Amino acid sequence: MKDAAPRPILLSEYRAPDWRVEALELDFDLDPDATRVQSRLRVRRTAEAAPDAPLRLHGRDLERLRLEVNGVAPAGEALVEDAEGLLLHGLPDAAEIVIETRVHPAANTALEGLYASGGNLCTQCEPEGFRRITYFPDRPDVLTRYTVRLEADAARYPVLLANGNRVAAGALAGGRHYAVWEDPFPKPSYLFALVAGDLACRSQRFVTRSGREVALEVYVEHHNQDRCDHALASLARAMRYDEEAFGREYDLDVYMIVAVDDFNMGAMENKGLNLFNAKYVLASPDSATDDDYVHIESVIAHEYFHNWSGNRVTCRDWFQLSLKEGLTVFRDQEFTTDCTLFGVKRIDDVQRLRAFQFPEDAGPLAHPVRPDRYTEINNFYTLTVYEKGAEVIRMLRTLIGREAFRQGLDLYFERFDGQAVTTDDFVAVMAEAAGRDLSLFQRWYRQAGTPRVRARSAFDAAAGELRIDLHQHTPPTPGEADKQPLHIPLRMALLGGDGAALSGRLGAAPEAREWVLELTGAEQSFRLTGLREAPVAISWLRGFSAPVLLDAGQDATELAYIATFDDDAFTRWDAMQELLRRAVIARVQGAGDTSQDDPGQRADTGQSHTGQSHTGQSHTGQSHTGERHTDEGHTEPADPAQGGYGQRSTDTTGTGQADTALETLIREAMAALLQNTVEPVVLATLLELPAHRELLEAFEHADPVAVYAARQAVERAVFGPLADSLLQQQAALAGVDDGAFTATAMGSRRLLNRILALRVALEAPGAVVDAARQYQQARSQTLRMGALEALNDADTRQRTELLAEFEQHNRNDALVLDKWFGLEAGSQIPGGLERLERLLEHPGFRWSNPNRVRAVLGPFMAHNHRHFHQADGAGYQQIAGYLERLDALNPQTAAALARPLTRWRRLDPVRSARMREALERLAARDGLSRDLADVIQRALADS
Ligand SMILES: [Zn+2]
Repeated sequence: MKDAAPRPILLSEYRAPDWRVEALELDFDLDPDATRVQSRLRVRRTAEAAPDAPLRLHGRDLERLRLEVNGVAPAGEALVEDAEGLLLHGLPDAAEIVIETRVHPAANTALEGLYASGGNLCTQCEPEGFRRITYFPDRPDVLTRYTVRLEADAARYPVLLANGNRVAAGALAGGRHYAVWEDPFPKPSYLFALVAGDLACRSQRFVTRSGREVALEVYVEHHNQDRCDHALASLARAMRYDEEAFGREYDLDVYMIVAVDDFNMGAMENKGLNLFNAKYVLASPDSATDDDYVHIESVIAHEYFHNWSGNRVTCRDWFQLSLKEGLTVFRDQEFTTDCTLFGVKRIDDVQRLRAFQFPEDAGPLAHPVRPDRYTEINNFYTLTVYEKGAEVIRMLRTLIGREAFRQGLDLYFERFDGQAVTTDDFVAVMAEAAGRDLSLFQRWYRQAGTPRVRARSAFDAAAGELRIDLHQHTPPTPGEADKQPLHIPLRMALLGGDGAALSGRLGAAPEAREWVLELTGAEQSFRLTGLREAPVAISWLRGFSAPVLLDAGQDATELAYIATFDDDAFTRWDAMQELLRRAVIARVQGAGDTSQDDPGQRADTGQSHTGQSHTGQSHTGQSHTGERHTDEGHTEPADPAQGGYGQRSTDTTGTGQADTALETLIREAMAALLQNTVEPVVLATLLELPAHRELLEAFEHADPVAVYAARQAVERAVFGPLADSLLQQQAALAGVDDGAFTATAMGSRRLLNRILALRVALEAPGAVVDAARQYQQARSQTLRMGALEALNDADTRQRTELLAEFEQHNRNDALVLDKWFGLEAGSQIPGGLERLERLLEHPGFRWSNPNRVRAVLGPFMAHNHRHFHQADGAGYQQIAGYLERLDALNPQTAAALARPLTRWRRLDPVRSARMREALERLAARDGLSRDLADVIQRALADS
């Protein structure tokens, strides 16, 4: 491998920079083949630095044309060149350094640094792309003010953008022109950006709450001008929300968003000049689904919120990545909850967390929210840093209360404005605002792994008292054998005989109907007193108050009661998920007994972590916030000390004996829900089975094809007899294709698509014809995609015809064509491997476009179980071959897509050996990137 076992970077070795950069002037002479970059930086040695401390300038793959210190080229020992870049020795305490480099944007397929996308030039600098543009102290704790001059051919690049405010522009001889941009706010190099291109601009004015006028501008290719309205409106909504909910106001005269076709991530929050994957900007009802609309709004908001949580207050080093990402994901989740999706947002977020982050936390790539070592920082843009990081912030708010949390945030932004800080700084400010000791809570940042919490209770009718015993335990993760207890908030309520919450007291607190138990030790007991009747059911972990696996020992009847009556949408959904999960496990084990209902068995408990969303969006496995990398699951053996969980094995065919009593109970509960007036969006979530990838987590060694078959069998057993009810519901939903983007309208369309998919899967009479009709008559992409997804695993004439029509119709629309690629790659109808080959030969396929590559390889691995997990290992080998090819062009995307291959330890013996072979063969290749090599080495470690 290229960088054989590079030395890891350790948090414990962090040292503050020896040099400050007082000002930076950049001058770009832009050209796709050879761009000349002149950098002029004024540096000053810090008071704390040793008098002989050298200046480190990072640089990678740069052609150096000139280097001068105070007008003189350093010679001899004054200049040392190494793998990281340059070291300048013997500098005076202050100096002016001029560096000229040449870079080659058109040849840059890694899409880090300055590169060409379509006919345009753009940059991606986070985390370490700036060193591919010029030599610089490329670390987040070196902040300075930037002045940037861009010069280019005026016809080819009429638009020249950089961070901050434009202070000058004009024409030059020879058909060239220039623009000068100044950013008044000091920033680290990872937030630098420039764009040069022939782009259309859609804009609107925004007046901040203090009366400042800001121009909001969205730049896209000319033919996409009519697809920007939603992005602009979302931006304005996010800006207003940040003022109202978090007291944060925008600070420049202009806020620009540029849509880029070739982009490794979802979007990038460069100061005042966000660069976006086009997928998270462009939308029209004819091209984008409801989910696309929601994701765009959420990613736009996320990047905007970074202006404070990330840009004004930034990270000291990359170990602190969650300082900005966890907090900003939390902020975007709040925005989507309050403005768009309401209750169902929490369910969607928990689904993602359980389906992607929990497996990560239990696998070979597990790491704390604040890691303490890395080899390749690109591989740490993970679900743990982002989603679990957001859960940590949410727990903090639960523990200290909304008011103290808001005061703490205000204090944080005020105290650290313009600085680069740490997660410890963040928690310290919160502790100060709340007047609480949060040192135990900080373990959430330092310790990897998903805690398991066991809850047991006993009711004393005479005393009107419920005793609750809690126990917590976190299994070992790579490099961390012994785990400490965490500070866990468990929100709970008690349901009485009429389904309503009972009131009672926790300790000396006033009477209430909901309580937060603070578990801080390995074992702890609580008492709820003043209860006037025996609880029929306990509503645990309301709103998913902590990212834990809960074993509450509830039997099926209690879960069904919660699914029917609980007023907490999350807990209600979670109870139904757990019932369905138990039914699938029973089928896989072929053990049709009722031991699944024994509350003493870990196997039965509330560990229902579920899976992918209901639409094509999930096919990429990419997060809604989009910044995050494509991520697939990977796990390793669960802790043997923990009883049933992770101890099963799937040696049966997967369609073995059912737990008929359990399936009947679920069916009756579903039948009641279908008759009741449950909100459509809530009903849609209740009708979903736990995702395949989430179900795999229940087994120590899973046969993915058998688990898939068992899941299908449960779906048929539960819903088959309800076909008439489903049809009635479907009929009642006619007319939801009305173009409204309200929560109610979107929820109804989600329900309609779910029912259609169920009916096709059940082979209900007329279902395929109904799906074809829905496709033909659809006015929205939501219903069109719903029909195609419903048909996608049905080997029918209608599927063939409609997919061909869809491809034909959208051939020139990259984002919609990605959906077609995803459907074809993810379909389990026969011939999957050959179809995959053909997709890569399609005239629209480009290895250089990350969206397209993800659209094909992602769904194949995530949904095409039959072919990816083919017992002869052909699916694994084929993917490994593609990854090698992709790695030569784009290491970052290759490493992200390699993650499904890291879960080999958790498969049945035959597949486990085949997947490991594929990984080992890949590992033996010459010239693998550091990104891909790092993922593979960690996956194979200690094996
Ligand atoms: Zn972010």
